[in-house]
Amino acid sequence: MSEGELPVVYHEEERTARRTHWCCECGGRIAPGERYQAASGVWEGGLGAATQHTCRFCAELRLIYVSDHEAGFQDDPPCFGELMELVHSLPEDVCKRLYDEAKQAVKAKG
Ligand SMILES: [Zn+2]
Repeated sequence: MSEGELPVVYHEEERTARRTHWCCECGGRIAPGERYQAASGVWEGGLGAATQHTCRFCAELRLIYVSDHEAGFQDDPPCFGELMELVHSLPEDVCKRLYDEAKQAVKAKG
């Protein structure tokens, strides 16, 4: 877990799960065969290298949150594991809209 530190090296890609992973944002199961976002980073301060697994819904939700100024995004993108807390701290209608948009984005990409 990044613990609020931004990584010095960062890479993300879409992968197909070969074994079960757990989403770092919603805690949901990513089953073998499902696609998910793998984000690898190297963090300073002894945190070392780590890979975060994010389910497709949360990956879309993160993108929408970061690009949506009404959602309150200001400077740095949310750290892994913080997205749900941030989204749920928004007004209910904004939160619901972000969820709807993320669901549609997952559907649109098949
Ligand atoms: Zn998730």
